[in-house]
Amino acid sequence: MEIHQLTAHELLEKLKSKETTQEEILASLKKRIEDVEVKVKAFVRVEKPAHPHTRAPADSYCLPIAVKDNICIQGQLTSCASKILEGFRPPYDATVIRKLKEAGCGIYGQTNMDEFAFGSSCENSCYFPTRNPWNLACVPGGSSGGSASAVAADEAFWALGSDTGGSIRQPASFCGVVGLKPTYGRVSRYGLIAFASSLDQIGPITKDVQDSALLLKLIAGHDRCDATSVNTGVPDYTQSLGKDIRGLKIGVPKEYFALSKENQLTGIDPEVKQCVEEAILQLKKLGAQVKEVSLPHSAYAVPVYYIIATAEASSNLERFDGVQYGLRHKGAVSLHDMYEKTRDSGFGYEAKRRIILGTYVLSHGYYEAYYLRALKVRALIANDFANVFKECDCIVTPTSPTPAFAIGEKTQNPLAMYLSDIYTISVNLAGIPAISVPCGLSKAGLPVGLQIIAKAFDEEMLLKVAHAYEQSTPWHKEKPKI
Ligand code: GLN
Repeated sequence: MEIHQLTAHELLEKLKSKETTQEEILASLKKRIEDVEVKVKAFVRVEKPAHPHTRAPADSYCLPIAVKDNICIQGQLTSCASKILEGFRPPYDATVIRKLKEAGCGIYGQTNMDEFAFGSSCENSCYFPTRNPWNLACVPGGSSGGSASAVAADEAFWALGSDTGGSIRQPASFCGVVGLKPTYGRVSRYGLIAFASSLDQIGPITKDVQDSALLLKLIAGHDRCDATSVNTGVPDYTQSLGKDIRGLKIGVPKEYFALSKENQLTGIDPEVKQCVEEAILQLKKLGAQVKEVSLPHSAYAVPVYYIIATAEASSNLERFDGVQYGLRHKGAVSLHDMYEKTRDSGFGYEAKRRIILGTYVLSHGYYEAYYLRALKVRALIANDFANVFKECDCIVTPTSPTPAFAIGEKTQNPLAMYLSDIYTISVNLAGIPAISVPCGLSKAGLPVGLQIIAKAFDEEMLLKVAHAYEQSTPWHKEKPKI
């Protein structure tokens, strides 16, 4: 095995036992990026993988890491893959970046994404679409598609993404890697450029579950700069690995498996269904007790999400007006003209659609009919999960209804694109954690993901079940041939 193919925990072991050196690791990563990045296009900016911070303690996590382009890095261009942030250099580090630097991680690349994290395919970037390393004609998923494809193509040992409605888990599923969305409040959002503030979370995208546990431990914790981060201790997540799952109660929501029926989620690909059903059998073999459960308001998750998320996005994006950040349109004749022209030339098509939709649902006369009602249904969705967790330790579902689709296939049909997140969105609405792990390959050789969902702040449960499943199946060892 070459160095760039190893996981972060394998490399950290090798560094400790002096089987490899920082120089060898950086050289291997650099060579790999030179070889495959022209095809994959995972990065919007990549520097020579830098030496880790020298002040980091000896037993640190001094490995290079890739970061999604919506997380602020002091003094470095950060653009959210939007023209409107052209030239913007944040004056401070996001809390997760500060923590990574303190732990010794060198940040060498910023990964492509859908503009402001609006999308499920990485095609809404102002730069270029990223490609799926398993099939370069397919999307890597989104919006953290750059991070997922970089990890899958061995251009990164590990990476950070952000997840508002599925943007860590869906691309992880499409690229055959592990993606974890932490509980809302588990990881500080300070310095994450906001999409929908009540839904956004930063989380790890990694080659296996153990790395996910390591990286979560590094970034989690209370932060006084983020009033929504929660002040509870951060467990050592690696302690949940290798544990027995015998006797655990796992719920399988019946609404998630219907091919078509009223009040049920439709559109699951039969191959995805089969892979996930096999994964459920495997969990049974490992001793878990599987039972059918119901999440009766599931069918409302997508419409509720697109009301709440666009409402919050329209408000968060108000600040990009050509005055304080990035782009300013030249040649405007008045202040209002400058706002208008800057926003018109700076935002892409999907961002404009969401600003218009969000402004509409918040406007006088529609606020009660749409936004307020959506908040009420959001509470019902959260309540569905709370009811299931009275009798189950976790829930398993597919991560996405289909494997990766072709580039261009859904760009003309936003509703079809929005349905990519039908299984992931409710988790954000409920504020609970979930992980996606590889659970098979389609006949066309594209990865399928299994989603595991747990109660708030029970990331240990996710990691325990995901690790037990992963270690008893071959899927995490499958690699794209690129
Ligand atoms: N695909 C969803 C959307 O377009 C989720 C995006 C995300 O999680 N950032 O909003």
